[in-house]
Amino acid sequence: QVLPADVKTSNEIRKVSDACFSWVQPLQPEQPRLVHYNAEYAKELGIEFSEKEAKAIFSGQQDYPNQRPYAMCYGGHQFGQWAGQLGDGRAINIAEIETPLGGKTLQLKGAGPTPYSRSADGLAVLRSSIREYLCSEAMYHLGVPTTRALSLSLSGNQVMRDVLYNGNPALEPGAIVCRVSSSFVRFGSFEILAARKEHHHLKSLLDFVIEQYYPNLGTPAKDTYVKFFQELMERTLEMIIHWERVGFVHGVMNTDNMSILGETIDYGPYGWLEDFDPTWTPNTTDAQGRRYRFGNQAAIALWNLNKLGSAIYPLIGEAEPLENSLNQFKKLYFTQREKMYCEKLGVTYGSDEAAALVEQILILLEKSSMDMTMFWRRLADVKANSPEGHLHTLAQQTYLEKEEFEQYQEEWKQWLTKYGALVLQEGEAASVRKQKMNAVNPKYVLRNYMAQLAIEAAEQNDFSLVDELFEILQHPYEEQEQYEKWFAKRPDWALNKVGCSM
Ligand code: AMP
Ligand code: MG
Ligand code: MG
Repeated sequence: QVLPADVKTSNEIRKVSDACFSWVQPLQPEQPRLVHYNAEYAKELGIEFSEKEAKAIFSGQQDYPNQRPYAMCYGGHQFGQWAGQLGDGRAINIAEIETPLGGKTLQLKGAGPTPYSRSADGLAVLRSSIREYLCSEAMYHLGVPTTRALSLSLSGNQVMRDVLYNGNPALEPGAIVCRVSSSFVRFGSFEILAARKEHHHLKSLLDFVIEQYYPNLGTPAKDTYVKFFQELMERTLEMIIHWERVGFVHGVMNTDNMSILGETIDYGPYGWLEDFDPTWTPNTTDAQGRRYRFGNQAAIALWNLNKLGSAIYPLIGEAEPLENSLNQFKKLYFTQREKMYCEKLGVTYGSDEAAALVEQILILLEKSSMDMTMFWRRLADVKANSPEGHLHTLAQQTYLEKEEFEQYQEEWKQWLTKYGALVLQEGEAASVRKQKMNAVNPKYVLRNYMAQLAIEAAEQNDFSLVDELFEILQHPYEEQEQYEKWFAKRPDWALNKVGCSM
């Protein structure tokens, strides 16, 4: 134990000062049931439990052998405002283990109240747990930095949520996800210590983070802190570029939901872009401000990095090196984003023609409400020598509405002609281009309605769709003929339906 622990061992809700974490005990689940186990990942981690043991351990019924559960203290800026102490209100770290993949922390989400639960119950419902379970694994297989998921359990407890059926608060099945990462430390873990002026602990935490997770940076000291900030800036940026590549919208990029490893963390009201609408946010409470819209994620990441910079500033005493990193962000973002889109287009980054094609296609996709996943995937089939001839097929295959198609037909033609010309000029074999494009343009993503269907079935005790989506999303870049039906635009009934987070 290197970090300061809370003096009191108890789950009682309270302000916890002078500590980075509190020892707690998970709630005893009433009747746990392991409904999905990520056996392949467990194997990679070298975790070998019988089904009975897994059921008990990953529901909080039984302690992980030789480990002591704890919840972490952190603060954060929520929707732009300092929110004070937040912390693991419904997450409990049950184990820190050495694995063939390195040191990992196992965390139960929804295993009961902790000192950080504030006015809430520390529980999670089945629908939000399915969403986290499926999405974090989907993201991993898409190549996006993310926390992972090891198991999905029903607790057997009923959880009260504010979804109203016939005017009454609804009871929903409680669930617990065991998620895994090298670290669950957040930007907010530093912010709370800085806000409380606990600079001694601030230093302990930063030294710990560097020694454990950034050993390449060398012995912790002022210049190492600066290097840490620079590297985290780069990792966070890389994560955002991946989000843009696959169409992921996090939805609650508060600083308490920002990982110090640059991983996607805390899957709440996230969503996937279908029509390419950069102003879209899945977070209904953010519908007014749209702070967390798709197209704003890089700006918010920078805003959040700024807050982290302020938090660790007392340990460095100079603003300039931190500002240098922050100032680089914007330029790096535009370069890397253009590189990423060139890969999606299957053209070489660096020419004015390629840059113009990127800029124009983003405008055109938005204008014509094109389904982004289908468009990028289908683009690999466009024939470079007769791109225009392919226009109608492309429109049909991506279900572009007739009106929109006709309205922007000329622009599409022009764009495809220029695109075809550049592809011809580059002279890469069509099959090679297709292969490269298919490696960055996924065929299958977790469209919001897919998760919704899996949830509705699971609530009727049918987990077959959870299984099916879990399977498909393990190979998002591969053609999977038997699952072709999921390579489709959302049905009309799903238009305004987005899963909820709580
Ligand atoms: P989120 O916006 O989901 O990242 O949550 C923000 C804060 O609220 C975190 O400190 C969470 O631990 C806490 N929280 C969210 N839901 C619950 C819950 N059901 N019970 C206790 N704490 C919660
Ligand atoms: Mg959170
Ligand atoms: Mg959450």
